[in-house]
Amino acid sequence: MSVMSAAYHELLDATIQHLESLKSRGVRHVAVAPETLRALAQPPAKFPISDFRFPIEKTSAASAPVANTEPTIYMPPKKTIAPAPKPQAPVAQPQTPITSSSPKKAAAFTALRERALACVKCPHLASSRTTVVFGVGNIDAQIMFVGEAPGADEDEQGEPFVGRAGQLLTKIIQAAGLERKDVYIANILKCRPDTPGQSAGNRPPTPEERATCIPYLQEQIDLIKPAAIVALGATAVDGLLGKTLGITKLRGNWQTYRGTPLMPTYHPAYLLRNQAMSEKRKVWEDILKVMEKLEMPISEKQRNFFLKA
Ligand code: URA
Repeated sequence: MSVMSAAYHELLDATIQHLESLKSRGVRHVAVAPETLRALAQPPAKFPISDFRFPIEKTSAASAPVANTEPTIYMPPKKTIAPAPKPQAPVAQPQTPITSSSPKKAAAFTALRERALACVKCPHLASSRTTVVFGVGNIDAQIMFVGEAPGADEDEQGEPFVGRAGQLLTKIIQAAGLERKDVYIANILKCRPDTPGQSAGNRPPTPEERATCIPYLQEQIDLIKPAAIVALGATAVDGLLGKTLGITKLRGNWQTYRGTPLMPTYHPAYLLRNQAMSEKRKVWEDILKVMEKLEMPISEKQRNFFLKA
């Protein structure tokens, strides 16, 4: 986080805490100077997602109007999509239906999801969460993206990577010529880490929370059997590989997770904080390595994304 941004967030947290403490003491109105109100009416100074534009690679298949959840491009040899078993989840989750060439796999995935949705192994998270954010995408995907933990948007919507970092991840996926429904996206932790006493902000999962939750992710990986995992950021890398050299040293270098090639790269939230073209290029080079390993078609234009003219 930049110095400016860290200071801004500290100030924001302190302001929220102060207002909450006033509210808890029965205060219902606070005096605000007209110039402060005018300043607050200005558009927020945060950077819009479009500033972090990842070029979107259009392929004829990707741009064709497709109204189903079948993969649009580069996927394993065509498979017939089996009818989806009826989701039994008590909480309505806006996730893509679980379909697979193998009804047995789809059923095992549905059962796993139901177990995760009912999980109360971390009582503090079970009581603070809105939803369990299990995962989303194609259970026959070749590429699986793994992040840290749901944030507020994900907790609310029940889907991983739907907030600002998620929108950037979607652009990265699209830059590779894929759509979200062609890949699978999950997190190390399935519940949003609670932040008692704070009404905003995120915290990384504790080692205990990670250890409790990781079996769900392991089972997801074992069922999906992706050809490659992209671990987004230090928590995902450490969560899957154990303590490592650190994301800065590891990114861009193939690792192995229980026999599956794993590419560590920076978390999209890092790219939102650090706008340097060089950082975007690093992430893009990591994605190119994944595309190469999977023998995906790579255009000249894609090879040159984020290179200086
Ligand atoms: N960050 C993550 O690591 N995961 C999400 O689902 C959203 C933001």
